[in-house]
Amino acid sequence: MYRSPYLWLWALCIFGGCSSYIHNQSIINTGCNLPVASSASQPLNIAFNGVTSFIIRYGNSVVLTDPFVSNPPSKKVLFGKIYPDTALVNAVFNDTDLIDTKLVLISHAHYDHLMDLPPLLPRLPTEAITAGSNTTKHILAAAKPKQTLLTLNDVAGTDSTLGQWIYSTDSTVRTMAFVSSHPPHFMGITLFPGPYTEDLKEIPVKGSDYKRGLPLSYLIDFMEDGVPVYRVFSQSSSAHGSKGLFPKSMLQEKAVDVVLLSQAVHGKETDYSELVINHCHAPIVFCTHWENFFRSTNQPLKTVPKAKVEANYQHLVSTFAGSMAIILPKPGSKYTIQPQALRP
Ligand SMILES: [Zn+2]
Repeated sequence: MYRSPYLWLWALCIFGGCSSYIHNQSIINTGCNLPVASSASQPLNIAFNGVTSFIIRYGNSVVLTDPFVSNPPSKKVLFGKIYPDTALVNAVFNDTDLIDTKLVLISHAHYDHLMDLPPLLPRLPTEAITAGSNTTKHILAAAKPKQTLLTLNDVAGTDSTLGQWIYSTDSTVRTMAFVSSHPPHFMGITLFPGPYTEDLKEIPVKGSDYKRGLPLSYLIDFMEDGVPVYRVFSQSSSAHGSKGLFPKSMLQEKAVDVVLLSQAVHGKETDYSELVINHCHAPIVFCTHWENFFRSTNQPLKTVPKAKVEANYQHLVSTFAGSMAIILPKPGSKYTIQPQALRP
């Protein structure tokens, strides 16, 4: 009863011509070396696949965030069936990375954050842990994975309360989730909120059946001898107020080195991005979820519908000029984070 009007309104938004090309192509980063102050013995390697999908490697430990590269067209998302582009998924996610994967972190269960994980599950080691909301677990249960599916609803922290650290099986990486929120798609409405309360029997093939569930942000610590040497903060859905943030006191143990920050907000709103950047005060910020994910990766890049990506990005760069690197990464780009002497 509710699905049809939602879909049509969403269609109107999407087909409303609100997606645009980036006029200044030079602001799109294609990869580079970046220094951070860290006691780590090795670099941190970060590959951006598009939307909020990253492959983050430290030594023999890999973390995947929100695996999604298939980019089905909006007509299929709205009115048809959607399936992973298996050839593309296999090309982006190679066995070398998958074999070393320790954690897979899902921010929420909309299709553009989860859809390409089921075909990867058989290629991941048994020890890999997939973590997300109850709804994410209920969807992935249909794939009958051999790996552990952890639900974090009851162990997530907030900006004022600590959550529970989840360690990889070999303790080389850990994560803590924080309760976040999700920007509305239109008129204050977030589509397909869910949640699911029971395991699904089949993996969804309709965009509307990927219910959002509880949105989560994550702190990710890469460990050396039991000590965090790189800390990444991943916020895949732009929120509001202090939603999705972690207690500031956590920075006393380890500073944040890299922020992955969704730009899928509507209009010129950059308040949340500025809040997160000021909260983390990290030397490197990746702006994510910025490109139009209804377009094939073969097509020229356009911005995510309804968001003023270029203006917002340039506002952030000028606001934080000189104090950090703010990066608008091209899908497919790779970055090497080089450890340098610790900050005093
Ligand atoms: Zn979403």
